[in-house]
Amino acid sequence: MNPLVRGARRAAARLLQAAPLHVAPLALWRRLAPKADLGICYHLVSDAPVRHVKHYRYLDTDAFRADLDFLAQRFEFISYPELARRRREGPPGRNGLILTFDDGFAECATVVAPLLRQRGLSCVFFVVTDLIDNRVLFRESAASLCIEAILRTPVAQVEAAVAESGLGALLTRAAAVPLSAPTATLPAGLTGLSPAPDPRLSSLLRGLLQLGAGDEPRLQELMGRLGVDAGDYLRRSQPYLTGEQLRRLHAEGFTIGAHSVSHRRLQELPREEAEREILASCRIVREITGQDSVPFAFPYYGAGLDRAWLAGLRRQHEFVGLFFDTGGVRTDEPFVVQRVFGERFSRDRSLDAVLRRAWADPGAWRRARR
Ligand SMILES: [Zn+2]
Repeated sequence: MNPLVRGARRAAARLLQAAPLHVAPLALWRRLAPKADLGICYHLVSDAPVRHVKHYRYLDTDAFRADLDFLAQRFEFISYPELARRRREGPPGRNGLILTFDDGFAECATVVAPLLRQRGLSCVFFVVTDLIDNRVLFRESAASLCIEAILRTPVAQVEAAVAESGLGALLTRAAAVPLSAPTATLPAGLTGLSPAPDPRLSSLLRGLLQLGAGDEPRLQELMGRLGVDAGDYLRRSQPYLTGEQLRRLHAEGFTIGAHSVSHRRLQELPREEAEREILASCRIVREITGQDSVPFAFPYYGAGLDRAWLAGLRRQHEFVGLFFDTGGVRTDEPFVVQRVFGERFSRDRSLDAVLRRAWADPGAWRRARR
């Protein structure tokens, strides 16, 4: 590209980033950059505190109902089969909206599905197949329970337990970052902690939520030292969906999707391992529900995953449905559905603000980088 043109483009991009574009009304954005369809990604709706989710502010039922009202006035709710048909055969339609929930928390069946049924709405519930039937405690759930225990424990005792578990590096007093700020790997930080944590523990608390799969033995060790009993919690709280609940949700007309086997970042896995995470989880969901085609939502995000490779997987394995990502409202391959986080991960307090900010991202108007 001509260096002058490149310079002008960079200047324009800087200008766009600096301007408060997200204040422009949603109706204007939708006229300027119309979308055939839009995906919304939620995780949890609950009116009660959820002990295993400390790292983002989830909606209560009133807020979720208000979101549904807001969306119903502006978009056409479509089911997964209808979205898949439009993407396959066209015409693409306009302003279609698909609701999705990631991670497979039990509240999908006990809170979300009843609310959606009342309104005759459909949804895709993406489940981490290792968690089905509460066989294991998800890493982030374990971190949340550890955080809860840490808030009840004297600081010196916490520091000793962390060091003895081999997680001492997390105790470094890093530059003060608000607990609620997004972490390097999660779109949201910690919210609503009670009692308020000792500032000496900030980097530890944030670090616990960012532990990777390789840190799991140390996290288990820490749970032991803090007196957190994963097996007991799984039995008593049943935090995740069961196979029986999945079958019932499917029978009621909801779509069940796969969200990998173990919820690891696919970008960090060898190609064959990432392939296994996709194929094995889609197969398990197919076996439970009998669906011919199982959509797949990338754990965390799908940026950086080779679209040609993903297309090849779908050609070879026809039970792999559409892929779902979390890149906002950007345009992607026809077999990749981008989604906006419905939870208020940024400073935005309303879904209107969340969507305006998603549209204000320059990525919303240009093609995704491969
Ligand atoms: Zn997830």
